[in-house]
Amino acid sequence: MVKQEDLQTIASSLQSFLEDLHSKYESLRDGTVANYIPELAKVNPDLFSICIATVNGDVYEVGDYNQLFTIQSISKVFVHGLALEDHGRDYLLTKVGVEPTGDAFNAIILDETSKRPYNPMVNAGAIATTSLIKGSGATERLNRMLDMFQRYTGHNVFVDISVFTSERITGHRNRAMAHLMLNFGMINQNLEEALDLYFQQCSVMVNCYDLALMAATLANKGINPMTGEQAVESRYVKDILSVMYTCGMYNFAGEWAYKVGIPAKSGISGGIIAVIPNVMGIGVFSPPLDSRGNSVRGVKVCEELSQQFGLHLFECSEKK
Ligand code: GLU
Repeated sequence: MVKQEDLQTIASSLQSFLEDLHSKYESLRDGTVANYIPELAKVNPDLFSICIATVNGDVYEVGDYNQLFTIQSISKVFVHGLALEDHGRDYLLTKVGVEPTGDAFNAIILDETSKRPYNPMVNAGAIATTSLIKGSGATERLNRMLDMFQRYTGHNVFVDISVFTSERITGHRNRAMAHLMLNFGMINQNLEEALDLYFQQCSVMVNCYDLALMAATLANKGINPMTGEQAVESRYVKDILSVMYTCGMYNFAGEWAYKVGIPAKSGISGGIIAVIPNVMGIGVFSPPLDSRGNSVRGVKVCEELSQQFGLHLFECSEKK
């Protein structure tokens, strides 16, 4: 397992390694951009960026790292953190499980016995988690969520209204899941309001640098390495990372844990975040997705980074 002491060794070759990775994979044309949210289908498939932020505040980046895109499912990680802060682990567990599903992220499925959605990284679990965010009304809840994203990114964040509206109009599966959970009493507040907040969190705009910094904040015990602000209580970081590790990469999560071995989360707009605890955060953005919904280039980049620098959490062989 790579430790903070190893950072200096890694850092010396990181920028050139990222540049090589970027040129190696920019010509890769596999995968297709997500099109079930009409607005997302308009994205340029050639966009490609990689960014790493360390817990010491150093940044390495290559490609279109300033390009904004909607965060999509990566938001689920951070909203899970906010829900943990709002309710604590025990209560949250009564509403949303922490079991990987092996099913697609948008499967309309709940645990037979408990009626809980399986975990906060699949849509059903994420909608239930979002519905628990505290606030005295829709505006306060949205503002609390945006403030939370601001703590991680270090700047104001905004919701892309076109993507939000597109998703709101076409999100029939998500609406069906919310109704199923309402039927079982798993969603308490106004269902449409919970869905709106969920669509808004997915439509928050970030760039690749933001992703890396958000991941680095989780790597740094919940403290943003650039601003020094506590973005999430440290005691919840291990809950967040455990769920990312087992459920973060859709129904590729097991193989990812096996091969790459780093807590990570991807989203259908083509982003991936990966967290090396106490060391650094990785962000990759490239819109074309594989059949499981993960960025094709993003997966390749993380696999190579993990191999090259021995990042797998359970790596114990001698360094070369
Ligand atoms: N907003 C998307 C949805 O709910 C998020 C999907 C994703 O990134 O996995 O369908």
